[in-house]
Amino acid sequence: MDYYSKQISDLIASLSMLPGIGEKTAQRLAFHILSMPIDQVEKLSGSIISARKNVRYCKVCATLTDQDICPICSNPKRDHSTIMVVEDTRDLAAYEKTGEYHGVYHVLHGAISPMQGIGPDDIKLKELMTRLSSEQVNEVIIATNASLEGETTAMYISRLIKPTGIKVSRIASGVPVGGDLEYIDEVTLLRALEGRKEL
Ligand code: ZN
Repeated sequence: MDYYSKQISDLIASLSMLPGIGEKTAQRLAFHILSMPIDQVEKLSGSIISARKNVRYCKVCATLTDQDICPICSNPKRDHSTIMVVEDTRDLAAYEKTGEYHGVYHVLHGAISPMQGIGPDDIKLKELMTRLSSEQVNEVIIATNASLEGETTAMYISRLIKPTGIKVSRIASGVPVGGDLEYIDEVTLLRALEGRKEL
């Protein structure tokens, strides 16, 4: 990339570190940024820095939030006795978009994957178990993805929770195998939730 000046090359290199952004796209974005009004560029870079600095895990459900306790966990109108376990914050958002789920969540930030060396200690599972021992919970709905990792995680969690006597259920298979929850339409998500089966 010697044909660009150093600052342009640095910008392209930084952008190409983002997922899904190849060399060509990075160049296109870089030149677009260079043509943007400076106040827009400041707003863009400012929001990246401030989100990165201020967004953290909710102390209760581990979702990403800019508060200590996220708006869902601090809402007294939610049913705090029903916890839906999801892999990431985008899955939570997908269920929130349906507007039909009134319980709370627990975000694992990943799934167990022996192939990739991700074990139970690498996801927010301990936090879930601590929560179950200190809160009044009636049901845990496991809504991990329908992938091999998602299923492995669901089985593992259900085996952990069973002895506590808390009801454990798994969302129905309306969600296609290998399907990422965030790409599935709301009707399918709701059907999967309604058709959940006790494990
Ligand atoms: Zn929360």
